[in-house]
Amino acid sequence: MVSRGEASKFLQKYPWSLESLGAKSIIKHNPWGRCVFQVGNLCSIQHDKPLACRLWPFHPRLKPLRTEDAGEAEYSHQGQRYYIYVDRRCVGLGKGPPITLALAEVVRMVEGIPTQPKYTTIPLQLL
Ligand code: SF4
Repeated sequence: MVSRGEASKFLQKYPWSLESLGAKSIIKHNPWGRCVFQVGNLCSIQHDKPLACRLWPFHPRLKPLRTEDAGEAEYSHQGQRYYIYVDRRCVGLGKGPPITLALAEVVRMVEGIPTQPKYTTIPLQLL
């Protein structure tokens, strides 16, 4: 999913890359069902990736998805409460530094603070 602000930037730089899904924009997929920016197993637009891609596998929300595990997902940053969920398909989970370091980075990205990803993604040179 590409936010409205990101969509207008994307359309300027990659006018062929988006399609509409209802009122939202998504990046097109190739005939094999992969994102059109994926080359091999890598993203070819590392520095232009939409926020959702930069955040993956984290899914921060302002409200919990479920009440029963809200406490587990809760993360507060400077008085703002977030509920951060993790896509367990990520093969890097549990293999790096403590996840709390990544959560602070996730929140900075969500808040629009320029952030050089250090804990939320693996450096390309390590792949
Ligand atoms: S990270 Fe890159 S290749 Fe993967 S979905 Fe996002 S834009 Fe496409």
